[in-house]
Amino acid sequence: MNHPQQEQIGRRRLLAGAGAALLVAAVDGCSVLDAQRRAASAPALNLTPLRAGTDRITQVTVCTRPFRAQGPRLDVEQIGQKTVVHNYGHGGSGWSLSWGSSSFAVRQAMTTGEREIAVIGCGALGLTSGLLLLRAGARATIYAKDLPPNVRSSLATGLWTPDSRICLEEQATPAFKQMWATMARQSFQTYQSLLGLPGNPVEFIDSYFVSDDPSNLRRRNSSADTRPKFAELQRELIGELIPKSEEFGPGVHPFGKRYLRRNSLMMFNISAYARLLMQDFVAYGGKIEIAEFHTPADFVKLREKVLINATGYGARALFGDESIVPVRGQLARMIPQPDVNYGLFYKGVSFVPRRDGWVFQVIGDDDYYGYNDAAVVPDRAEAELAVNTIAGLYRPA
Ligand SMILES: Cc1cc2nc3c(=O)[nH]c(=O)nc-3n(C[C@H](O)[C@H](O)[C@H](O)COP(=O)(O)OP(=O)(O)OC[C@H]3O[C@@H](n4cnc5c(N)ncnc54)[C@H](O)[C@@H]3O)c2cc1C
Repeated sequence: MNHPQQEQIGRRRLLAGAGAALLVAAVDGCSVLDAQRRAASAPALNLTPLRAGTDRITQVTVCTRPFRAQGPRLDVEQIGQKTVVHNYGHGGSGWSLSWGSSSFAVRQAMTTGEREIAVIGCGALGLTSGLLLLRAGARATIYAKDLPPNVRSSLATGLWTPDSRICLEEQATPAFKQMWATMARQSFQTYQSLLGLPGNPVEFIDSYFVSDDPSNLRRRNSSADTRPKFAELQRELIGELIPKSEEFGPGVHPFGKRYLRRNSLMMFNISAYARLLMQDFVAYGGKIEIAEFHTPADFVKLREKVLINATGYGARALFGDESIVPVRGQLARMIPQPDVNYGLFYKGVSFVPRRDGWVFQVIGDDDYYGYNDAAVVPDRAEAELAVNTIAGLYRPA
């Protein structure tokens, strides 16, 4: 029997969460043709079955996305003698937008004329800020209470999802959209330079959206939900970066009578990637110091006059910024299988074939899944639901 949440799942519901916006954007680029006819003419797919079982779960992690309805905070603030350039609040898009967002922050920091700059935080935004400062000719020290793999960024899904819970649609002003598109393009281009490296920090994978009903492959979610919508920006603003999707009908894939749509997604193997960023930062002369700040007044002890604040969700406590809303996300990690390099989305669950440990995740009904939930206690039942939903695809429908 299906989990109640899995019944009547429309397209946006199925795709909500990491990767969702990208897949939605890809679908919307297609003309409205009969899914069944086009699906049946596609070539056969040979997909190696997953060895997915709850006994193979290695870890269940929980983390909160730092969501702000108005988008990330990127302004400059004077605190005592220090100039603080903010670079936090990237929701479910922190890895994806990191290079573009940090470029913006670094430009702001460099216009002060200072060439010795501190970065507070060593997650996706702190590491990219630090590296970009060095590349711009500054001296940079990262101060952080935790380093990878003990930062929240290490608990992300690992997909390029640049508009995932980035802001509310009603707050996406033209100026914000322009800045977002610049950040997304810059990040995307930087990621291309990280493909094909030892350890595969970044790679493209095929991902299959699986449905029992062909109309779900392209049906829009109902507008009955009156809550403010999360912004979906990709198709409108960076459509040229989204590869076309392809459809597959029953008989040409291993999932019985179901319907599949294939997309190409960029994936981050976060362990290798974060390690590469740390190594590059140190190799280019960057320094890292462990330090915890309890209030912004603590910045007085730093020798640098200019700081980039990349504390992520930590900014909520450090700056008392209650505009940061926690959006809970839980990953069930699993022993990876080297011959599997495709992802799946099925019945509100995603599977991402990370080489540094598979990721299974209930992504919920929509982007409100986990909204305003700061609980970080792992839910084993949710983890097993995620694994069993995907494992069930390989049993006869
Ligand atoms: C379940 C889940 C899945 C996600 N999936 C994706 C995805 O697929 N793709 C994507 O792009 N994004 C994804 N995200 C979002 C992404 O993980 C975040 O946007 C990103 O990690 C934010 O990075 P950050 O550097 O701002 O913060 P963090 O990673 O939290 O780093 C903050 C740093 O600041 C330090 N710090 C904080 N407070 C203090 C303090 N008071 N004193 C000293 N140091 C401090 C911390 O120790 C740490 O070093 C996901 C998030 C979650 C929760």
